[in-house]
Amino acid sequence: MSGEIQQRFHARSIQDPDGFWREQSTLVHWETPFDQVLDYSRPPFARWFVGGKTNLCYNAVDRHLAARGDQNAVVYISSETGVEKHYTFRQLHAEVNRFAAVLKRLGVGQGDRVIIYMPMIAEALFAMLACTRIGAIHSVVFGGFAAHSLATRIDDARPLVMITADAGMRSGKSVRYKPLVDEACRLAQFPPQHVLIVDRGIDPEMSRMPGRDVDYAELREAVGEATVPVTWLESNAPSYILYTSGTTGKPKGVQRDTGGYAVALAASMHHIFCGKPGEAMFTTSDIGWVVGHSYIVYAPLIHGMTTIMYEGLPTRPDAGIWWKIVAQQGVTVMFSSPTAIRVLKKQDPKYLSQHNLQSLRTLFLAGEPLDEPTARWISDGLAVPVVDNYWQTETGWPILSAMPGVEDTPRKYGSPSFPVYGYNVALLDENTGQEVGADQKGVLAIVPPLPPGCLSTIWGDDARFVSTYFSLLKERKVYSSFDWGIRDQDGYYFILGRTDDVINVAGHRLGTREIEEAISGHANIAEVAVVGVEDKVKGQVPVAFAVVRNASSLQDDAALAALEKEVMETVDQRLGGIARPARVHFVTLLPKTRSGKLLRRSIQALAEGRDPGDLTTLDDASALEQIRAALVSRR
Ligand code: ATP
Ligand code: MG
Repeated sequence: MSGEIQQRFHARSIQDPDGFWREQSTLVHWETPFDQVLDYSRPPFARWFVGGKTNLCYNAVDRHLAARGDQNAVVYISSETGVEKHYTFRQLHAEVNRFAAVLKRLGVGQGDRVIIYMPMIAEALFAMLACTRIGAIHSVVFGGFAAHSLATRIDDARPLVMITADAGMRSGKSVRYKPLVDEACRLAQFPPQHVLIVDRGIDPEMSRMPGRDVDYAELREAVGEATVPVTWLESNAPSYILYTSGTTGKPKGVQRDTGGYAVALAASMHHIFCGKPGEAMFTTSDIGWVVGHSYIVYAPLIHGMTTIMYEGLPTRPDAGIWWKIVAQQGVTVMFSSPTAIRVLKKQDPKYLSQHNLQSLRTLFLAGEPLDEPTARWISDGLAVPVVDNYWQTETGWPILSAMPGVEDTPRKYGSPSFPVYGYNVALLDENTGQEVGADQKGVLAIVPPLPPGCLSTIWGDDARFVSTYFSLLKERKVYSSFDWGIRDQDGYYFILGRTDDVINVAGHRLGTREIEEAISGHANIAEVAVVGVEDKVKGQVPVAFAVVRNASSLQDDAALAALEKEVMETVDQRLGGIARPARVHFVTLLPKTRSGKLLRRSIQALAEGRDPGDLTTLDDASALEQIRAALVSRR
């Protein structure tokens, strides 16, 4: 059986966490060595590398000055403004120092919170690193969240300073940020003392509130070529707060430590992502998400790689823009999401073959289930292996993944392969608390302690941390991922969906993900959402909302009815009649969170005639309108 090396590596990390993580800890700089690898005296709170002092910014920037000062650290490309800027590690160091000096001038010090509400501009990355340099705790809020969502996060984090820009750009149009910031500050109970504005010159009408609002360019000039010494932090000092996507409910403020996170990211670059120092990594996420924190900002820089920071859509000026960047920058490691690939899949496949992609070794995808047709399409189109990896905002780095740096195991479509070292993964029966056998569904749980890099708590709410994540079983504390999983005979894991996405049809428990996967097998379906809808007879029935690939072929109701029938038959063949959707509705857009995840809870609420609930994370309101319209249409 393949995977033995990887299995031994994993087993050692669980059986001898002290020895294993002590070895990995040497990948980062410790100003003061730690006294203890793990303190687990207060379960489920794990404290890694106790007593050790380090700094994320130092590891990402200063440490590379000697060996790679003139190497590009950041390549910033905006297809919205046409700006392309390169920053060497030396230049990055200078910018981060100046930013840190500006923050200090505004009174920011160790432990203070700073909210970063910014578009994808290089200053956002400088701001994050400047915060961690001086021990301030950043909380990046995805630019584009509405004022109300921003206000909730302000009141939770209570920042001293908020950093923003005049505007973002999306699809060639400016998106004003400042009015939103003003409104959020008005709504908030604990607004920041200062709003620091990076003025891109996009919104000439931007208003400023005297005394509160300060201009970054002015202060940057004023501090000159300042340098700010690194604040050495005990390994468990918080580095940042980041809210989860809010797919299932109210977002949770994930708190991350310093030393454990640095080690976890550095190790992941060796064992999972396999980038080499000096090479370029391109992660297409946004700094507002965990993937952006870990794999646009911290991990590639800690590893001495060039990170590509991209502002723009994957389809503008055309659907080949990402591949052009890969070719021009010699990207070796790329990280994106299934949602983004599905967007490209609706475009002409010719865009995949217009550029020389020889440098690219692997494409990593995470964030949502990766269906087989999408995985095949992109893997064949680019002629590179695709590595599906599964994790959460909470964990900060992959829980399940292939680990090509440990062993090059064959991959199975639809599976994020194996538990990653450090994670003691168990699939548990929620009723008995027992581990399920091969090919049986269970809740994906992690037997604590959680490895380095995972959340230390929920910001300001230890009790919520314990009650939210560790109450799956009564008799012992295990971390629940709230996802269903299954492990096959060969040890490969498959994610079946979220625990609240399981539907009960006449006593049969079905994962909506399985039904979606089956429907995706139909050649004319680009994307689909399945929800369980209350039914008097069966308890619940599956209802599907599908986006068709080739809409022009569906001119009339008869054609739609025929496609609906075909989709139902596809499900019958693959899963059996019990899983057959009661209805298949056709839409052109599905409601998603701003991080690109399906908002099934809102679709389900509409389908059951209920209120769609908290919509602050909804990306495009017209998608919900389509669901509403589809539900009342008579076809
Ligand atoms: P909230 O917790 O607020 O409801 P969220 O869970 O959507 O929001 P994230 O932390 O961004 O917020 O998403 C993590 C979730 O995304 C996982 O729990 C899982 O459901 C899904 N996910 C991530 N990667 C994969 C993957 N490779 N395959 C399947 N599902 C994935
Ligand atoms: Mg979650």
